[in-house]
Amino acid sequence: MAETINGFTGFSNKGNFQYSRDVRSRHEWEDHREPLAFDDTQLDAVPEKQRRWSWVEIDLNAIRHNTSEVKRRLRPGCRLMAVVKADAYGHGAVQCAKASLNSGAEYLGVATVDEGIELRKAGIVQPILLLSEPPITAIPLILHYRIMPSVYTAEFAIAYAETADAHGLRAPYHLAINSGMNRIGVRWDEVMEFMLQTSFHRALELEGIFTHFATADCPDSIDFHMQARRFVEAASAMHDAGIDPGIVHCDNSAALLRYSETNFDMVRLGIALYGFHPCPETRRMIDLRPAMSVHARITDVRSVPMSEGVSYGLNYRSPGSVKICTVPVGYADGLRRALSGRTDFILDGRKCRQVGNICMDQCMFEVDLRTYGTKPRLNPQIGDEVVIVGRQGDAEVTIDDMAAAAGTIQHEIAIGFSHRLPRLYT
Ligand SMILES: *Cc1c(COP(=O)(O)O)cnc(C)c1O
Repeated sequence: MAETINGFTGFSNKGNFQYSRDVRSRHEWEDHREPLAFDDTQLDAVPEKQRRWSWVEIDLNAIRHNTSEVKRRLRPGCRLMAVVKADAYGHGAVQCAKASLNSGAEYLGVATVDEGIELRKAGIVQPILLLSEPPITAIPLILHYRIMPSVYTAEFAIAYAETADAHGLRAPYHLAINSGMNRIGVRWDEVMEFMLQTSFHRALELEGIFTHFATADCPDSIDFHMQARRFVEAASAMHDAGIDPGIVHCDNSAALLRYSETNFDMVRLGIALYGFHPCPETRRMIDLRPAMSVHARITDVRSVPMSEGVSYGLNYRSPGSVKICTVPVGYADGLRRALSGRTDFILDGRKCRQVGNICMDQCMFEVDLRTYGTKPRLNPQIGDEVVIVGRQGDAEVTIDDMAAAAGTIQHEIAIGFSHRLPRLYT
């Protein structure tokens, strides 16, 4: 006697589930394939955005605009570093680096050795600062590709200098100073000790000193000013000891906009380069344009009768008088699952609610078929373009909105749009 599930006793005859298939003919098909009907050039000619109907567009004019807007706020002589780590916050490191260098940036910042190498291999010759100290084993790479390391341990400094010396090279570096964030760096009050431990090495060349702020984007400025004071203290101590600190820099996007007094010799522009405001306060200070937008085309449309569910869990229930549309974007593409039911898509210039749980590769949205006033009813069709992030007509969905809905910061959302979505540059 079979167990019952909600009174259902199962099929009496297992054969109900069986179907026959012709195993032999399948093998025959594999064994007697026709010669290939398509050549490689034909296959390669299918554009990326026609292989899967979802993609990211990057507006390089926005990158140029944001760079020059920041640049013209700096006093003459203050250098601008474009921070293009994490593939330029998901926007494409090489393209963004070039666009930014062409509009006022003169220095690049990266987080990893390989990010630096990628820029060099793309023919970029401007100075590149690695914003952390790499493993000692990576020293030949940074010397060969002329990637400037941030240094804060004597062990690294000596190994770096010795390798450089053995190859007849100089060992330039920026000293990372910990002024209070407690992430990396020599403590601000131990900088002279570090210099004494390392300065005997003839190949070492201090090209700059920097620190990083923990609270530059926060309303309260007490901690910011404390860090700034300690950093200046360290720089002065070097000065007094006859050591030239070189390029003195500390400001990230928030600091460079909010506290021009700490711009010093260079500023490090990250999030604002991509058009995001580091905090609400900067909105009235500068006109920034978001460079990234995310697009898709509808892959399926259906009427879902009232009270039927949609997507995993069936948590969303159709209110009737809606069309449910599917787009090929999911959390594997960076559309965070936590945003399920908390973001809008734009179709024909109108916002439509994303509904149901966001799946790995796809998700659904709702088109309301009731008419309001004079607005024409939407008539979604397979192939229609949908904006997931960006502007269409008068409607806009921003990464800011998404970050707020997902309880995170814009950085994480922007970087999250994965490389499964091709980047198209305009
Ligand atoms: C990432 C980073 C920056 C850029 O910060 P934003 O807030 O994105 O402008 C600057 N400096 C260092 C050391 C960083 O790691």
